[in-house]
Amino acid sequence: MTVDSTQQIWFLTGSQGLYGDEVLRQVSEQSAQVVSTLNSSGHIPFRIVGKEVLTDATSIRKLLVSAGADDSCIGVIAWMHTFSPAKMWISGLDQLRKPLLHLHTQANRELPWSDIDMDFMNLNQAAHGDREFGYVQTRLGVARKTVAGHAGDPDVAGRIGVWARAAAGAAAMRSMRVARFGDNMRDVADTEGDKIDAELRFGVSVNTFGVNSLVEVVDDVADTEIDVLVTEYEERYSVATELRRGECRHESLRYGARIELGLRRFLQDGEFTAFTTNFEDLGGLRQLPGLAVQRLMNDGYGFGGEGDWKTAVILRTLKVMADGLPGGTSFMEDYTYHLVPGEEKILGAHMLEVCPSIAERQPSLEIHPLGIGNREDPVRLVFDAAPGRALVLGLVDIGERFRFIANEVEVVSPDHPLPNLPVARAVWCPEPNLRTSTEVWLTAGGPHHTVLTSALTSEHMWDLAQITGTELIVIDADTKFRDITNELRWNQAYYRLAQGF
Ligand code: MN
Repeated sequence: MTVDSTQQIWFLTGSQGLYGDEVLRQVSEQSAQVVSTLNSSGHIPFRIVGKEVLTDATSIRKLLVSAGADDSCIGVIAWMHTFSPAKMWISGLDQLRKPLLHLHTQANRELPWSDIDMDFMNLNQAAHGDREFGYVQTRLGVARKTVAGHAGDPDVAGRIGVWARAAAGAAAMRSMRVARFGDNMRDVADTEGDKIDAELRFGVSVNTFGVNSLVEVVDDVADTEIDVLVTEYEERYSVATELRRGECRHESLRYGARIELGLRRFLQDGEFTAFTTNFEDLGGLRQLPGLAVQRLMNDGYGFGGEGDWKTAVILRTLKVMADGLPGGTSFMEDYTYHLVPGEEKILGAHMLEVCPSIAERQPSLEIHPLGIGNREDPVRLVFDAAPGRALVLGLVDIGERFRFIANEVEVVSPDHPLPNLPVARAVWCPEPNLRTSTEVWLTAGGPHHTVLTSALTSEHMWDLAQITGTELIVIDADTKFRDITNELRWNQAYYRLAQGF
C-alpha cells in the first residue's frame, strides 16, 4: 500500500500572443523538451504532464481551477518561457488550490555568443518573464517553491522531486482516514490536539472506534489464514525457538498473527491508512498489538501509540513521501540518554511498536513479558536501526495552530550489544549536539512521540510545511539556541498575523 500511480503533476508554460504563432510554436516545443528532460531525470516519482502554452487570463484561470478539481493532479509547475504579463495570472492563482512550484529555467544552457540575435533574445527571456511572475505571486501571497537552474541539472530535477514527494504527502493527507482504537492515554497532553483544525488544515479525518469492534474482526479470522501468515513469519524473520510450531509458546505467535489479520481487515474495509492504539483500552484483545503494528507500519500504514493520532498522521504522510526511496520510516519515542561527555546519544524505542523498515538486518521475532497493558505476553520484532543520516519529526498542537519540529540526526550502532533489551530500538546523535538539540526541542514544545525517517530530509519537511501552511522548526548543524528562540517569537507573531483579523 503506497502511492497512487495515476497521480501526476501539471506543467504550465506562460507566454503571450504578442510574439506571433511561429514564436509560440517554438515555445511549445521547448516546453515539451523541458517536460521530457524532467520526466527522464529519474528524480521525480510522478509523471509531469505538459499543458498548452497559456497566453490569456481566461485560459489560465480555467486551467488552474481544473487543476484544483482533478484528484489526479497533485501539484502544478509553472514556467514563464517568455514574458507573460502577470495580471493575466491573478484570477487563476487566486483560485489555485494545489501546491505550486515556480520553475525558473530556460531551454538553452549556453548563450550562443557568436550567433545570438534579437530573435533569440525574444524567444528566450525567462530571465525577466519569471521575474514578472515571481512579483505577482509575492504580491498575492501565493505559497510556492521556487527552483532555479537548467532542467537538465540533476540538482534542479532533484529539488523538484523533493517538492513532488511533499505534494504527494499533502495529497495523501487530504483524503486520510485515521482509526483510533480507544481515545488518548489518560492525562497525557502532547498527544492531544484539535481534530477539527486538523481536518481543515491538513484534510485528515480522525475518528474513534471502540476497541471491541476490532476484537470482533480479530476473533473472526480463520485458522487457515493464520497458518499462511505464520509461514510468512518463518520465512522473513528469525523466529525464537519457543514460538515455533510444536513449541510451548507457538499459540502466542498464532494469536499475534490473528491480531494482524483482523487489524489489517478492519483498516482495509474502512479505507483507513493510519491508526492508533491505547494500552489502557484493549477490550477483549489478549495481547497488546506489537508485531501487527510493526508489520502494518512496514506496509505503509501510519501509527501512533497511546491514541497519538498526530504522529499516526505524519507517519503515514512520510511513508507516502518516501515511497521507493532507500531507507525506512518509523514511529519513535525518545526513551533514554547516554550522557557521557563527548559521547552523548539518544536511545529511542517504544514499548513494542518500531517499524522494521529501519532495521539494519533481519529482525528476530520474540516473546517477552510486558508489564504495561495488563495482558498476555506480546510477540514483537526485535532489531537495531541501521546507521546513517536520518530526520526526527514531531507535530504538536500549540493551541491556535500546529507546529512541526524536525531534528537532523546521525543514527549510530549501539556502543555495546543490548542483549537484555527486548524491543526494537534506534541510537542516534542529534545535530548540532545533544544539549542544543534537546534545549531547542523542549523550548519549541516538541512532542515525546516522533517519526524517525532515514529516507527523507529536512528539505522534504520544509516543502511539506510550505504546502500545508504549517510552521516548521528545523534543528540542524547550524542551529544556535538564541537564534531559534528568536525565530519562535517571530513565528508566533507571524502566524497570528497571517491568520488575519
Ligand atoms: Mn509512547
